Amino acid sequence: MAFVKSVACSCLSLILACGSPVPRTLLLSNVELLDGSGGPARTGSLRVAGDTIVAIGDLTRQPSDSVVDGGGLTLAPGFIDTHSHADRGFDRHPDALAAVSQGITTIVGGQDGDSPYPLGPFLDSLARRPAAVNVAMYVGHATIRTLLLGKDYRRTATATELDSMKKLLRHELGAGALGLSTGLEYEEAHSASREEVLALAQVAADSGGRYISHVRSEDRGFWPAIDELLEIGRVTGMPVQLSHAKIAMRRIWGQADRLLAKLDSARARGTRVTLDVYPYLYWQSTLRVLFPEGNYGDVKEARFALDQVSPADGLLLGRFEPDSSYAGKTVAQIAALRHQDPALTLVALIKESEGKAESVIGTSMIEPDLVKLLAWPYGNICTDGELDGRHPRGYGTFSRVLGRYVREQHVVPLAEMIRKMSALAAENVGIQRRGRLEPGWYADLVLFDPATVIDHATPQDPHALSTGIARTWVNGIEVYHDGLTTGARPGQVLRRSTTAPPPLRPSAHL
Ligand SMILES: [Zn+2]
Repeated sequence: MAFVKSVACSCLSLILACGSPVPRTLLLSNVELLDGSGGPARTGSLRVAGDTIVAIGDLTRQPSDSVVDGGGLTLAPGFIDTHSHADRGFDRHPDALAAVSQGITTIVGGQDGDSPYPLGPFLDSLARRPAAVNVAMYVGHATIRTLLLGKDYRRTATATELDSMKKLLRHELGAGALGLSTGLEYEEAHSASREEVLALAQVAADSGGRYISHVRSEDRGFWPAIDELLEIGRVTGMPVQLSHAKIAMRRIWGQADRLLAKLDSARARGTRVTLDVYPYLYWQSTLRVLFPEGNYGDVKEARFALDQVSPADGLLLGRFEPDSSYAGKTVAQIAALRHQDPALTLVALIKESEGKAESVIGTSMIEPDLVKLLAWPYGNICTDGELDGRHPRGYGTFSRVLGRYVREQHVVPLAEMIRKMSALAAENVGIQRRGRLEPGWYADLVLFDPATVIDHATPQDPHALSTGIARTWVNGIEVYHDGLTTGARPGQVLRRSTTAPPPLRPSAHL
């Protein structure tokens, strides 16, 4: 059946410096349109004027159109990565190959409690010298906390310090951040009391923001950590998002259903809780994160971590500054080299890396749990990745979900997964007018082949490009085409707006 959705596009003509209006439209024809709503694909075309989608449906070519024949591939809204560490890497990688090569058009940074400070100048400079992708940010709790407490963070903040933190947070949110992020499992924030976190979350709620959290524990203290997140959502009334959801301890494996039932029942009582998740059974962090209480010399604790959280042969060092020959080896391999017990090795490695850089990939999850988390209707996909990191998630996440979990394992239908990668992701972090193929919405687009899309990045080759992602556009400008970035950097800084967006003629603001 014929279908056409359009908006009058005369108002969207570009005005060149000479003053004469020059219509510049792009017609993407011969594509299967998945619009981000979760509805079925429809064959048709899509027209872009400037940075905006102006028509979708059975479109005939107009004189102003430059035409891209999609060759029957699928056109979807560009993917929105709601938990990204790409914000640390735009100075080195403004083309954001890791992101755009998997169809990502918007990244959300400032995660895990860590954001650039001060945020306003960071965003202003990104607006002046854009990256290839759009960028939205949260304000990090640990960033603010360590500004006040310095290195003395293994304690609760005093009332005076908390007051100062509230002021700082209010100021940082004023730069246009989406809300407050926490990384309560990390040492800079782990000693923050529930009261401290709740008081700061209330400031974010009062500013019209939201909350996103790497919770206090993903293993030993998992259930109380989930309760803390839900309490923040219940008391403040703002949306709360569980970052990179995982069940990362042997003892609680198989309990994804229990987690989702808990979130569903909180939602039924009015708490606006959602989650994001990445499609790997291993995380990346520091060795120290295995000791949340900071007792790094405790061999008993090391044995517990290796038995329950990640086995020695599942802990792969990505970086180890004190001895770079350890990079690429597991703790089990290093223990064998040193003729040492793995738990003693773990303790020794942490001692040796004091004040130095180290990173580790830890295998801690099982696929039956992951599959359930990927399928939850209120969960969207995130990478948790960097633009040049050691974990393959930075390059492979979205194509892995589409290839391995949609095409091969049928976890959810393709249209539903596209919704979770786009429209739902936008909704879960408060980004407006992106994530749908809809006239009047921004032209963030990905053209891909559902029959072949797959990731190739691995821990051994973390920067291998995916196949099946053909082309990516950000704000109507092509940024990626068959394995290469185009050099265009049309990304916008997305700032939280306190007012509803206008019905048409979108600005650079959310
Ligand atoms: Zn995290």
